[in-house]
Amino acid sequence: MKIGVIGAGMSGLMAARTLQAAGHDVEVIEKGKSVGGRLATRRINDGQADHGAVYFTVRSDHFKHEVKEWESAGLVNEWFADPYPRYAGTNGMNKIAKYLARDLNVRLNEKVVSLSPEDGVTLSASDQLNYDAVILTAPLPQAADLLESSTLSLTAADKKLREHIFEPAFVGLIELEKNIQVGEYGLLDEELPEGVLKIVNNADKGMSESSILSVYMTGDWSEAWFDREEEALSEILRLTNQQLEGLEVTSKQLKRWRYAQAKQVFNAPFYKLENHPVWLCGDTFLEPDDPSGRTRVESAYISGISVANQIAKSIN
Ligand SMILES: Cc1cc2nc3c(=O)[nH]c(=O)nc-3n(C[C@H](O)[C@H](O)[C@H](O)COP(=O)(O)OP(=O)(O)OC[C@H]3O[C@@H](n4cnc5c(N)ncnc54)[C@H](O)[C@@H]3O)c2cc1C
Repeated sequence: MKIGVIGAGMSGLMAARTLQAAGHDVEVIEKGKSVGGRLATRRINDGQADHGAVYFTVRSDHFKHEVKEWESAGLVNEWFADPYPRYAGTNGMNKIAKYLARDLNVRLNEKVVSLSPEDGVTLSASDQLNYDAVILTAPLPQAADLLESSTLSLTAADKKLREHIFEPAFVGLIELEKNIQVGEYGLLDEELPEGVLKIVNNADKGMSESSILSVYMTGDWSEAWFDREEEALSEILRLTNQQLEGLEVTSKQLKRWRYAQAKQVFNAPFYKLENHPVWLCGDTFLEPDDPSGRTRVESAYISGISVANQIAKSIN
């Protein structure tokens, strides 16, 4: 069976790997220039900084097993435990995605703009690709846009996917002249100036020689500043200085995520369109008994594997 996976984030990569291992012909289509999605790392001069997921926690046995393999491959290490272990990418979170994509067929820089029941998937370049099943992993608002601009027959239940609202996130990346101590482990996430969610020192995650701070802003703050990117960066710097005082800044830049995190989760690990072999998965799709109830790296991992197992089962 030929399967197209739209999106090369954690969920798409895990779905693709699982289906490929089960003997299916899988192609991943990613609009970005690299795999990873919200597992995102940026090189800044001699250093690097994560600007998507900061770290991940591990609750399920399946994920625990996988993370052991990543640890053995030198991809991740335990950053600190409080009380649960928090893992970070040794060389940035994006390297995990690169590792997962290593033996997959991934088409980069290709945006899917519509799906049709007759012709399969249409890319922006108007190339048409045909698949027996499609897995859509884009954050739900983007997935809903894509479905609504397609020639599929959507039911009322399918259209309700649009109701899952995501909040945006601004992340300021601040390169420093000298290393500084940020909290006990390189993370501050309490008693911060209003609007600041977390301040992370990437040097303390072991992924950067030079000190680069990733300053994560709250959803509300990011929403309020969303259309004022330049001023937002200056304000992030001002708030960071208010907290840490006397920063000697070498460079600063901003990452703006339109869709960072879902406000309401979906209480099933995937969703299938009622009239078409199109399946949705991603971090928003949680097992009904998910112990955290939050979208995260682990929920994307579980959702990707669950949808793939279900598709494999439905074929046999
Ligand atoms: C700022 C920030 C901080 C975070 N911090 C943490 C944290 O500390 N711990 C944690 O566990 N999680 C964290 N997360 C969440 C975590 O990153 C996500 O839960 C997880 O990476 C989502 O994976 P995914 O596969 O569901 O989606 P994504 O990673 O979003 O992957 C979807 C992919 O689909 C692609 N795509 C979308 N539309 C199309 C299209 N039309 N055609 C082709 N490709 C398309 C996108 O480019 C993207 O690569 C954070 C996220 C953000 C943004």
